[in-house]
Amino acid sequence: MSRDVSRAGRLSRRHLLKRLALAVSLAPVAASRPSAVLAAEAPLLSPGSKEAQAVKYVEDATQAQGAAPGSTCANCALYEGASGSAAGGCQIFPGNIDPGGVSDCRRTP
Ligand code: SF4
Repeated sequence: MSRDVSRAGRLSRRHLLKRLALAVSLAPVAASRPSAVLAAEAPLLSPGSKEAQAVKYVEDATQAQGAAPGSTCANCALYEGASGSAAGGCQIFPGNIDPGGVSDCRRTP
């Protein structure tokens, strides 16, 4: 019985240490993400920038070739802006994007 308790204690301690190691490893990623306030002040991503061209980002999804009808940044899982906002962050870009835009991740193959 005490052996089982001791083993359970080791397992939970191991589990705790694994979670701690994961949290420590992800801390730099979390720290590099701009805060919501900073992101709100960031300029809009230019469609002519290298980052935007790499994923064929356009500010007007209706003009995008290959985009599934109705697909926009505003309804993308990677969009971080508030519903109805004029601009918001995207998890793949450091600044703000137009919620009416779209990029390669929303285009059909
Ligand atoms: S990942 Fe989503 S939110 Fe970001 S630019 Fe592409 S479509 Fe827009």
